[in-house]
Amino acid sequence: RAARDAAAAREPAVTRDGRHLEVAANVGSAEEARRAAEAGADGIGLMRSEFLFLEREAAPSEADQRREYRAAVDALAGKPVIIRTLDIGADKQLPYLRLPQAPNPALGVRGARLWASQPELLDAQLRALLRVGAPESLRIMVPMIADAPELGTVRARLERQAEALGLTRLPALGAMIEVPSAALGAGGLAAEADFLSIGTNDLTQYTLAMDREAPDLAARADVLHPAVLRLIRATVDGAAGRCPVGVCGAAAGDDLAAPLLAALGVDELSVEPARVPAIKAALRRLDAGALADCLPRLLALGDADAVRAALTAWFATDA
Ligand code: PEP
Ligand code: MG
Repeated sequence: RAARDAAAAREPAVTRDGRHLEVAANVGSAEEARRAAEAGADGIGLMRSEFLFLEREAAPSEADQRREYRAAVDALAGKPVIIRTLDIGADKQLPYLRLPQAPNPALGVRGARLWASQPELLDAQLRALLRVGAPESLRIMVPMIADAPELGTVRARLERQAEALGLTRLPALGAMIEVPSAALGAGGLAAEADFLSIGTNDLTQYTLAMDREAPDLAARADVLHPAVLRLIRATVDGAAGRCPVGVCGAAAGDDLAAPLLAALGVDELSVEPARVPAIKAALRRLDAGALADCLPRLLALGDADAVRAALTAWFATDA
């Protein structure tokens, strides 16, 4: 039985009505990527590179970074590996950067916005990623993108670094969708990006204006809020099949939210490594088209509690 479950975890996830979704893993290191591969992940949907930069006196060297990124790519043996550029800011500090304190750190300089003040740090990371030399499996993802021109400037920087290194084949470049403006502008972003990945943790925080760290708001800062779901749908509709759309926030690994994300039309779910088998199993039980037929009703509900209740009832009758 255990052997059969492990084998099933490595098989692709296809819904009852024949939709194939990639189930990838979120990791913080190459070591964790190895465990994700063993758990049956179809790839890495989010490697949070900031873990490499934490708890040290200075930024890791380009060579150290390259080694870690290369090890993650090797662990997945040709499957896609999405590495996110440094997502740091006043809300996640690095002592050696001495970023100025900001009154609203979550709304301040973080993620892609850091290029303006720390260009050498982020360009060095792009060089380390380019020097991995696996443009067919390595993908670069940029956090906290607000609009298409912002991703365009990152692409220009990537191309400049590649040219300096004499490289002609570049890894795919994608944007995280975690700012409401990016979800609403997904059409323009899909023209600029090779892929999109929805960061539901921050997208929920910014849509509902509820701090994701605030214990008093935790129960209400819920991805199932119809406003958040409408932004997810706007992202899928905006991309309109021109580039794949994934989800790498915690919602992707949630028993209720994951099937709903499949019904909303996303192509990939990236979850904690240990959740890969369960999410694949949940997708195999799902009739995504039947749930999609309920979306107009679910998205018209008033709040997350109402969506949760309606979804629970739908699963009780569908089973
Ligand atoms: C997110 O915001 O959903 C996300 C995946 O990024 P992080 O949790 O690292 O901010
Ligand atoms: Mg985020």
